[in-house]
Amino acid sequence: MFTYFVGFVAFTIALLWIFQIVLLGDIYSFIKINELKDSTESASAVKDGNFDDVLFEIAQKNNICGSVYRIDGADASLVSQAHIETNCILHNIAASSDSILNMMYKGAAAEGTFIEKFIILEGQGTVIPLSGDNSRDHDDQATSVMCSKLVKSGADTYLIVMNCEMVPIGATVDTLRAQLIVITAILLVTAAVVAFVLASRFSSPLVSMSKEARRLAEGNYDVHFTESSAFSETKELGATLNYAASELSKLDKMQKELVANISHDLRTPLTMISGYSEMMRDIPGENTPENAQVIIDETKRLSSLVSDALDLSRLTGGTQKLELTRFDITDMINDTIGRYARLIEHEGYTVDFSFDRHAVVTADETRILQVVYNLINNAINYTGEDKLVTVRQTVSEGKVRIEVIDTGEGIPDDKLERIWDRYYRSGDYHKRPVVGTGLGLSIVKNCLILHGAHFGVSSTLGKGSVFWFELDEQSEAIDNIDSE
Ligand code: ADP
Repeated sequence: MFTYFVGFVAFTIALLWIFQIVLLGDIYSFIKINELKDSTESASAVKDGNFDDVLFEIAQKNNICGSVYRIDGADASLVSQAHIETNCILHNIAASSDSILNMMYKGAAAEGTFIEKFIILEGQGTVIPLSGDNSRDHDDQATSVMCSKLVKSGADTYLIVMNCEMVPIGATVDTLRAQLIVITAILLVTAAVVAFVLASRFSSPLVSMSKEARRLAEGNYDVHFTESSAFSETKELGATLNYAASELSKLDKMQKELVANISHDLRTPLTMISGYSEMMRDIPGENTPENAQVIIDETKRLSSLVSDALDLSRLTGGTQKLELTRFDITDMINDTIGRYARLIEHEGYTVDFSFDRHAVVTADETRILQVVYNLINNAINYTGEDKLVTVRQTVSEGKVRIEVIDTGEGIPDDKLERIWDRYYRSGDYHKRPVVGTGLGLSIVKNCLILHGAHFGVSSTLGKGSVFWFELDEQSEAIDNIDSE
């Protein structure tokens, strides 16, 4: 930024130098010569031989002098003249006027419109013609430019000669140069200071951010990106990076917790399995069906933990595709409750199912079964002394609502949000030795989100909780059309 800013100022100064100092003489003489040519052209437009008025008007307008001569063989007689500039060589330097006139005539005869520059030799009262554009060597001396053209009018031939004095620009250039040196110095210093201030205000937050970003990449999540900058874009960048850092740190924490939780959950059943197996091998009489059952149960727990973790990673990783089918959700819930028959019989649980009529939905049956199964499992785990769990199905306005109600301790308000999180387990108030993994509700949540279903929980402390979700009911009419 510093380089560009200073570079731009230097470029501007260079342009000033080129146009004001180097090319000033050329530009001045270019403009003057063009003016002179235009004036000569205008004068040559006169057709009736009466040049007086036009010549005077042109001369006054452009501050130049002019004469018109009638050419008669080798003689030239003056027919009109406009003498505006008192020092013009055309009318003042008599000594050289004949030869000048001769030169201008020959030039005009050869080239049409002829231009010649002259240098006035001060004190000597003479002028000498300069050829080409070497006028730059004579910046300090007065020069003069003449333009001539031959015009035919009737039987007569006229020679129009126009003369313009060139002011010496050497002194002007010297003054401009002195000024430009000062201006250049002031501009360069100012530009350097302004560029430095701007660049440091703009880049210093970026430099510090890039340092922090490098620390972040190395795994330091306690980085802080500065949000104090004069530029709103930099502020925004700082805020976004801070947000990214905090999200990354959460992710990192979650990942560490996940590994810790999984290892812990895997270790517990493994310890049980190895402990019971050793006992059955080493201690006579311990090889009982009950002990074998413990091993079988723990193996099942291990396997459900692994499949839950896999399910969840598929669901949250976006690789899970729904296989939608139309099925009777009422039948599905009935079947699921049927699986708890043993528990109901042996441990005295009651799982009630109330519904008005059968309802059909279009959804991924396996996933919805998983949802219902997890919710009923939790309700059984956390229900109250009465060991009562109620599943209620209601249908209204095209929605099938399933509620799983328990009579347990309920969930405190501050935990209601967090229970859906992966690996969140309060664990303080189960009624049964809990077989959960802390993944159940997270799986429920992700399955229902994939279905675009509404779901939630309401809970009253000491009275119990109601977990619910809603799916669109598949109307019979559509059902019939499809089956036709
Ligand atoms: P798990 O049941 O394996 O601990 P979940 O993800 O199914 O894992 O549940 C997360 C947490 O939500 C549980 O640890 C528990 O604290 C709370 N919870 C879930 N269902 C209920 C319920 N019906 N009553 C009270 N608390 C519940």
